[in-house]
Amino acid sequence: MIKAETIKEVRDQVKAWRKEGLTIGLVPTMGYLHEGHASLVDKAVSQCDRVIVSDFVNPTQFGPTEDLSTYPRDFERDCKLLEEHGASLVFHPSVEEMYGEAAATYVEILNDMPKRLCGQTRPIHFRGVCTVVSKLFNIATPDKAFFGMKDAQQLSIIKKMVKDMSYGIEIVGCPIIREDDGLAKSSRNTYLNEEERKAALVLSKAVKLGKEMAENCEKDAAKILEAQKDLIEKEPLAKIDYVSAANFDTLEPETQVKSGTLFAMAVYIGKTRLIDNFLYE
Ligand code: AMP
Repeated sequence: MIKAETIKEVRDQVKAWRKEGLTIGLVPTMGYLHEGHASLVDKAVSQCDRVIVSDFVNPTQFGPTEDLSTYPRDFERDCKLLEEHGASLVFHPSVEEMYGEAAATYVEILNDMPKRLCGQTRPIHFRGVCTVVSKLFNIATPDKAFFGMKDAQQLSIIKKMVKDMSYGIEIVGCPIIREDDGLAKSSRNTYLNEEERKAALVLSKAVKLGKEMAENCEKDAAKILEAQKDLIEKEPLAKIDYVSAANFDTLEPETQVKSGTLFAMAVYIGKTRLIDNFLYE
């Protein structure tokens, strides 16, 4: 596996692969990789000749009071996992390499999509995500890019950006990978102490409850959201940020459950903000 730290190294390698007629997949990550990330790499390896994984904690998607400085990092361990899963190149740039000294250009969706759900408490988050993903698209010029449903709003917004900006890149959504007890895998789970780790199960339990209600033909989204909230509020360490139903494509609020309704939540467990969701199909 090639380890690249500069944009030029990636571009030169991509050029060489293109000369050979090879297809390229991209998996953007912030590192501290787990089996959720690995599942994206596996899917990319199964669909593309070469797979580039970016491993970059992107400062522009963190708000001033968020966890940029404490975000977990372990590049050597990441490389081991990526090699085991057959990635061809890991791109691990410095902040200077990605943004230079005075970068002042952002990619931002100007409708309400980035303001809804997580955008209510993270107002600049999706501008940072769209900007870094655009840069990665321009650097890696992939045929396909792979994103997890774990971050459903991000996936929806990236699809919109790709359509609006005519990127010509196929966006592949991948299912949420969970721990054996149901907790969605996340780099941020490492922040949880033993007691919080147990309390965090309330998210996946609420997802399961909502899914069962929807599958049992409950069509009133408000009833499902109420049941989910009631369950979460019983957990003393949990504090709800939001529990919402939205159209997966537009992120507009939805009152009737139908194919494409996304039930998404963000819940603080102690100081750690966790997200989870299910898509009714
Ligand atoms: P992150 O490193 O948290 O920015 O995540 C990088 C990519 O991995 C994103 O597309 C995430 O949606 C995806 N991802 C993170 N956790 C999971 C998970 N538990 N299951 C599936 N995909 C995930």
